[in-house]
Amino acid sequence: MAEFAAGRIGCNQLNMLYANALADTIARFEQTGSTVITDGEQTKPSFVTYAIDGLESLDSEGVAIPFADGHIRQLPRLTGGPFRYRSYAGSYVAKARTLSTRNIKQSVIAPSALSLLYPADGIDYYAKDEFVDDLLDESEKDIRSSFTAGAYTVQLDFTEGRLSLKLDPSKKLLRSFVELNNRVLERFTAEERSKLGVHTCPGGDFDSVHSLDVDYAELLPDLFSLKVGNFYLQLASERNRRRVLEMVMNYARPNQRIFIGVIDPINPRVETAENVRDRVLEAAEYVPAERLGTCDDCGFAPFSDDTSTSRDTAFSKISARVVGTHLAADKLGI
Ligand SMILES: [Zn+2]
Repeated sequence: MAEFAAGRIGCNQLNMLYANALADTIARFEQTGSTVITDGEQTKPSFVTYAIDGLESLDSEGVAIPFADGHIRQLPRLTGGPFRYRSYAGSYVAKARTLSTRNIKQSVIAPSALSLLYPADGIDYYAKDEFVDDLLDESEKDIRSSFTAGAYTVQLDFTEGRLSLKLDPSKKLLRSFVELNNRVLERFTAEERSKLGVHTCPGGDFDSVHSLDVDYAELLPDLFSLKVGNFYLQLASERNRRRVLEMVMNYARPNQRIFIGVIDPINPRVETAENVRDRVLEAAEYVPAERLGTCDDCGFAPFSDDTSTSRDTAFSKISARVVGTHLAADKLGI
């Protein structure tokens, strides 16, 4: 992507590289034995900007997100309306389906993240309310496109949830995010919502985080009021997992399934299957086994220029997750 941006390779060559990366990712994902796979977001510029990549009504002066190691990610800023996505997540599902018959989980960006594109001092002739209406419609379309293309589950990436508590400890911002996301989620039936999920994490970019120092206790009660059936929770990198698990069981609704992060993508050490097994068994002391699943704490490279984790390391970690989860299931007799 960097070579393409610098004009050193053309569109055809980039598309060929995309196709190779996608085929390799899906083949290796299938080899791990995972019954649910993803396309590894191989062709997205980032988990947050895929929908707006190439949009002309943007400048580069948006919200800055500082990470613990000192690096910063800056979002673009909207300069005019109406707000429309340039691409929808269903297009990724459609491509992945040509390469695999496994169940595909598709990630989409939560509308709350894209709400940050609207500048604090407003846009002439495009009021905030108009923007929010457009955003909700586009987000709904993004999710529906994924189901229409055959996604098994759709996950809303909500990394800004925990981050919001750093920006606004009063929780007003967090609650406005939850409310905004629920306005989209309410457009789906209960059955559709059982296939929808939310991912929370403290960030994971260039092996660094933006909000691990925010106490999970501040996030969880509001998080579980999101109207989805599945929660993909970063947990492997938490210092006190049992405390988090206890809170999860206090706040999760009975119909919500809990996928716990058993792999830490920003830690270069590859977990063993036994590490994973033990983490699942630990979680099963709190979460009933029929509502418990596993996931990775976060993506291995949510931004496409993050090359801090090799493909080999990523797939070794995913394999450990799959094997370790099976070991735990055997132990639990399920
Ligand atoms: Zn994440």
